[in-house]
Amino acid sequence: MKLVFATHNENKVKEVRAIVPSYISLLSLTDIGCHEEIPETGKTLEENAILKANYVTQKFNYPCFADDTGLVVAALNGEPGVLSARYAGENRDANENMNKLLDKLTHVEDRQAKFETVIALNLSNEQFIFTGQVMGEIVEEKSGEKGFGYDPIFKPNDYAKTFAELPLKVKNKISHRGKAMRKLIAHLKSLGQIKE
Ligand code: IMP
Repeated sequence: MKLVFATHNENKVKEVRAIVPSYISLLSLTDIGCHEEIPETGKTLEENAILKANYVTQKFNYPCFADDTGLVVAALNGEPGVLSARYAGENRDANENMNKLLDKLTHVEDRQAKFETVIALNLSNEQFIFTGQVMGEIVEEKSGEKGFGYDPIFKPNDYAKTFAELPLKVKNKISHRGKAMRKLIAHLKSLGQIKE
């Protein structure tokens, strides 16, 4: 089965490729010749995931899914949330986003945060939504080189390291995206689209 993951983010593709069974041929937007930026104008993660998945379905007519992710910080009333990608401005710079968040949390004791992912899957004229989240905290300083985005400042609960210090296998096992993807795969199996 061919399945398009509607993202230009190679890090997300790498993570998801390590989760999907090898007999699913996972194609990125680049693989299908879609080089444009898909507008993310929704007010929620779900709206944005649906926008991205529908864009690919309408223009390319492939079975596809899209994810939208937000980092939700309790002490900041849920910021950056749906604005996570552009928190420090339109250039979507991960370092600037992290710096802004660390600045806002200076002297703030409550560092609780969670990553939330919503995935929209478009398959044979039907749409399915899957979610995943992971609880953790924002550390005081960036730490680690792996992963992407806010990984160097997010430490999942029950772990002593940030996502950027943990191997991909461990991140995938406990992460927001890993959880949502496993629900998607279980759903494909239940539909008989892929083998058990
Ligand atoms: P989007 O889902 O691509 O819109 O991502 C929103 C923002 O969250 C971007 O700044 C991403 O870099 C960041 N982000 C998404 N997923 C992760 C993750 O797994 N770890 C760290 N940051 C992430």
